[in-house]
Amino acid sequence: MENLIVCKFGGSSIISKADVERIRKISDDDSARKILVVSAPGKRNNNDKKVTDLLIALAEDTRACIDDLETRTRANEIITRYQALTSKTLAYIEEELQQRIKLGLPSDAYLDSVKAFGEEACAKVLAEALNAEYVDPQELFLVTPDFSGAAILPPSEKMIQRRLKGIEKLCVVPGFYGYTENGTIATFSRGGSDLTGAYIAAALDARMYENFSDIPGILAADPRIVRNPKKIEKLTFKEMRDLAYLGSKLHPEAISPCAKKGIPIHIRETAGYPARGTYVVQERMSDPNQPIVGVAYQGGFCSFDILKFGVNEEVGVLRRILQVFEDKNISVEYVPSAIDDISVIVRDDELKKHDIGMIVGRIQSALGCGTDVNFKEHLGCLAVAGKALRGHRGISASIQSTLADAGVNIIFISQGSEERCIIYGINGSDHKKAVNAIYDKYLR
Ligand code: ASP
Repeated sequence: MENLIVCKFGGSSIISKADVERIRKISDDDSARKILVVSAPGKRNNNDKKVTDLLIALAEDTRACIDDLETRTRANEIITRYQALTSKTLAYIEEELQQRIKLGLPSDAYLDSVKAFGEEACAKVLAEALNAEYVDPQELFLVTPDFSGAAILPPSEKMIQRRLKGIEKLCVVPGFYGYTENGTIATFSRGGSDLTGAYIAAALDARMYENFSDIPGILAADPRIVRNPKKIEKLTFKEMRDLAYLGSKLHPEAISPCAKKGIPIHIRETAGYPARGTYVVQERMSDPNQPIVGVAYQGGFCSFDILKFGVNEEVGVLRRILQVFEDKNISVEYVPSAIDDISVIVRDDELKKHDIGMIVGRIQSALGCGTDVNFKEHLGCLAVAGKALRGHRGISASIQSTLADAGVNIIFISQGSEERCIIYGINGSDHKKAVNAIYDKYLR
C-alpha cells in the first residue's frame, strides 16, 4: 500500500474562489494527498443548473443549429462559472470550448465530448490555481465506446500506474470520462467522477480514497424523508453497495474497485472539513443489538404479476418468462414467487421505449393458456440493510410487524442468501410512512 490519498471533489465543492482555497488547504494538510479528481462545477443553489447540464443543453442547441446568439449566451454562462473560481484570465478555456462545439462527430460522441468539457476545464483551472499538474484522462483511461455509459477497460490499470505511480507533484485529473481506442472521448454515467477517483486509488494501491461532496457522510436514511437522520460512522463495502443501489451520493460502481483492493473510502463534506464523515471499509465490528445500519427507499418500479395454476411445478418456466425481457433488452430487478404466481419487478425507466401490452402478450404466449398477467405501477423498494441482519432470528418478522403497525402493505419481499439486506416492495404512496417507521424503531 502506497502512502497516497486520492481525493475526489464533487461539483458542489467547486463553485467559488473560497472553494478553491478550501481545496488548497485540504491538499496542503496532508502530503499524501497527491491526486485530486474533480467534477464540473455544480449547482450554486437549488434553482441553479450544473455545468454538465448547461453543456448538454449547449450540445443539443448546437446540434439543432440554434442561432448563434443563443449558443454564445449559453457558452458565456458556462465560462462565467469557471471565472468564479479564479482571477486569472480564461481566454484559453473560452477558445477550447468554441473548438469543442465545432467538432464534427456522430451525435452521441459529440454530446460526450461537449459534456466532458465541464470536468476538463475545471481540472485545468484548478491545476493552474493550485500550481499543480493537469493530467489528461487520455493517458489514464481506455474505455468502451458506449457513449454516456462507457466502461473502463483493463489496460487502464497499467496506464494509470505508468503515469501516476510515485508522482511527487500535486496532480489534478478531470473525472467522468476516458478515451476510446480510436481517441474519442466517452463519458461514464452521471456522477461518474466517483469512478475516476476509485479506479485511480485502486490502480495505485492508495492508502485511502476520500470522496468530498456536500454531504457530511452517509446518512442512515434520506433527510428528505426522515427528520435529522444520523450519520453512519462506518459501513462495510457490501453495506454501502446495498444503500447505494437505491440511491446514495456515491456512484454504486465506485465501490467495487476499492473493495477489491481493500482501500477504505472516506465520504466526507468539503465545507465541514476536517470533520470526519463515513468510512467505508472491508470489515467492521457490528453491534448485535443494532443489526440495521440504514434504510433506503427508491420509487419508480413496476411489476408484471403472472398468475397460473401450478406454475411452480412447470420446468423452465422462469427461463421462458425472463426470455421475454431479455429479448427486449429489459433489465429485471427481482423475481419474487409463490405457489401459483411469479412477479417480475423492473424499473419504470426500462419500459420507456416498450409497449406494455406487447410484453404482457408475449408472457401469456410463452406460458400458454390459463395465464393471467397483471401490470402494476407506482411501486417502490425499501431496503433495510446491515451485515448483522444475517442470522438475527426474528428480525424480518419484527420489521414486517413494524410496517404493518404503520399501515404499510408489503407487496413483495426479497432477500439474498447473504442476508445482509432485505428488500420490501411497497406502494410508492406509502414510502414516507415506511421509512420513518423503520428509522424510528431501529435507528433513532
Ligand atoms: N459532472 C458529471 C455529472 O453531473 C459527473 C460528476 O459530477 O461526477 O454527472
